[in-house]
Amino acid sequence: MTEYTKLAELLFPQIEKTPADCEAQYPPRALPEGAKVTRFAPSPTGFMHLGNLFSCFIDSLAAGKNGVFYLRIEDTDKKREVAGAVDAILVGLAYFGIAPSEGMLAEQTQSGDYGPYKQSQRADIYACFAKSLVEKGLAYPCFCSEEEIAALREKQEQAGVTPGYYGQWAHCRSLSYEEIEEKIRAGAPYVLRLRSPGDENRRIYVDDLVKGKLEMPENVQDIVLLKSDGIPTYHFAHAVDDHLMRTTHVVRGDEWISSLPVHVQLFQALGYKMPKYVHIAPIMKLDNGNKRKLSKRKDPESAVSYYIQQGFPAAGVVEYLMTLANSNFEDWRKANKDAPVYDFPFNLKKMSPSGALFDEAKLNDICKNIISKMTADEVLEKTLTWAKEYDQTLYALFSENTDYARKILSIDRGGAKPRKDIARWNQVKEYVTYFYDSLFVPEDPMPESLAAADVNAILTRYAEVFNEADDKDAWFAKIKSMCEPLGFSPDVKAYKKNPEGFKGHVGDVSSVIRVAVTGRRNTPDLYEVLRLLGKERVLARLEQAKSH
Ligand code: GLU
Ligand code: ZN
Repeated sequence: MTEYTKLAELLFPQIEKTPADCEAQYPPRALPEGAKVTRFAPSPTGFMHLGNLFSCFIDSLAAGKNGVFYLRIEDTDKKREVAGAVDAILVGLAYFGIAPSEGMLAEQTQSGDYGPYKQSQRADIYACFAKSLVEKGLAYPCFCSEEEIAALREKQEQAGVTPGYYGQWAHCRSLSYEEIEEKIRAGAPYVLRLRSPGDENRRIYVDDLVKGKLEMPENVQDIVLLKSDGIPTYHFAHAVDDHLMRTTHVVRGDEWISSLPVHVQLFQALGYKMPKYVHIAPIMKLDNGNKRKLSKRKDPESAVSYYIQQGFPAAGVVEYLMTLANSNFEDWRKANKDAPVYDFPFNLKKMSPSGALFDEAKLNDICKNIISKMTADEVLEKTLTWAKEYDQTLYALFSENTDYARKILSIDRGGAKPRKDIARWNQVKEYVTYFYDSLFVPEDPMPESLAAADVNAILTRYAEVFNEADDKDAWFAKIKSMCEPLGFSPDVKAYKKNPEGFKGHVGDVSSVIRVAVTGRRNTPDLYEVLRLLGKERVLARLEQAKSH
């Protein structure tokens, strides 16, 4: 038995599994040539950032139909863990139609042959690889206390050298087997460190699919692989998991680029081929003319939950994310107006290496456009689903009479130029207020150019002639015929030629009617609105609008 084998037995006496066993248990996947295996690997902290959703979106796009996209939960930091976070992540993804095909599929449900998919359940796997690194002389226990590490840092600062645990500064590197054994028998806590074979004068090269060729000095730090409680660090867990789960493409935030030298070295030490890396830039925001990352603390729109609560249609958010993912998407969209978004030939290599600017106005426009193309039934169904959760008043009004709600939402829908009033489900209530007496509040004033007496005269006369049964032509003919006796011109052109000769024109007359019954200057088709409101309500509103 070599010293290293003895040490490995001393540290991991209970571990019988070997890396070869793991290799056999998790063989390369049988997938079609070129199929990608991607993963979303969030920590269950209960907060999902828009950037997380974006990278997850990229994962699912990259895997496509042939590949595998799985969900792995990185719960190695128990302090930050929140109960129910896995379900919350899945619900968030499901809202946007993103569904992992493997991995954690609910809080307690896993599916797939490459699990467990929760890092806290993989302790024996990490230990087996840690043991093998010790056997190879590539890992060793470090008993240094926090105070000792702090003192080391101070010394290094004074000496003006790179701080950290490495080379000649790595005190526990050179402990003898006997020294280690004594400490272990005495129950001394320790972390397991990598014995870095790196040389700071050599460089590593990584071909990142988005960032291009990356070149950095090799890692020389004896980084921690297992913390004192045996829990792996991100670096170690990621290398073991992404290898054993046969990940082909690691899509993650570009804040990890600085750790690449560590990861390259770990893959080498473990004897694995590296996956391909796809480091994506964070989503940025303009703040007083300066670009900065969308911040969890400062920007409510950084949270995925914001989009769900505000009722952004999922399809709109997905469409928007696609514009951020590949800049050629917008041209494709122009040429393929009604094609499903997932028909777009997404290409990882066409992602921008620098951070896309988040543009809520653009997101709103996209959403308005998408909602304008939906059927009334679709709008109703989605509004109900949203309102059930976030707006009880609207939910009650709509579900009491879904037929009426559907008719409201049908006005000006389905034609060549649908209206684009609604960007989010939380704007629907505002859009329909005047159809419900309990919500109706007049918002706009009568046209300023008209005298109160003339407004009253129009309202009185209209109440006399209004007939629910009129077809659209008859309806408009009636409004026109009201004009002359009241001193208005039934013809806008005639009015413009001789504005002094009239109190106003037919447009002013219908404006008065519109403001009276809806409280607004701008509404969908007035004829349809009046019919839907019905005689009783129209007459009441006409009366109510009179000034006394
Ligand atoms: N758990 C890591 C994080 O949430 C995952 C990074 C990765 O995708 O590798 O930042
Ligand atoms: Zn030490």
